[in-house]
Amino acid sequence: MQQNEMKLEFDSRSCNESFARVAVAAFLTQLNPTLEEVSDVKTAVSEAVTNAIIHGYEGKIKKIVIECEIRGRVLTVTVRDFGKGIADIKKAMEPLYTTKAECDRAGMGFAFMEAFMDTLEVTSSLGQGTCVKMSKSITREPNKYERQ
Ligand code: ATP
Ligand code: MG
Repeated sequence: MQQNEMKLEFDSRSCNESFARVAVAAFLTQLNPTLEEVSDVKTAVSEAVTNAIIHGYEGKIKKIVIECEIRGRVLTVTVRDFGKGIADIKKAMEPLYTTKAECDRAGMGFAFMEAFMDTLEVTSSLGQGTCVKMSKSITREPNKYERQ
């Protein structure tokens, strides 16, 4: 598989968190990932989508867009919202930093995305939204389905 892309748009409802992570995992299966790699990607996608729902839209029902791209053996996932935006990205990405401590958030979402993926880039502008771009290289050798 040289290159493959997909795009999803869905409502910022918490019931769509599991839909989003399963959809990305399903797209990833063409690279024959290990269970651990699938689990890492699902965790990272979940964290980014939860952030869009809770922080980006603060409960309002708007659209979240996920784009996935496979190039060679690297999966790149982009999770985008068009909500509140982040004032200080560097600070927001520090482990344990949260603006919603009162809602029992731990401030670990970005730390998990960083730990479970190979790269993480966050861009955001206040009032316009946030884009989380992350990638992971899938190490196992291609299987026969992939060679089609
Ligand atoms: P946890 O993920 O552990 O439940 P958290 O969501 O607060 O807690 P992070 O996911 O690391 O922690 O995010 C840190 C902070 O960055 C958030 O508290 C919030 O202020 C800000 N943030 C993250 N994603 C977004 C987003 N999509 N839109 C606006 N602000 C965001
Ligand atoms: Mg979070």
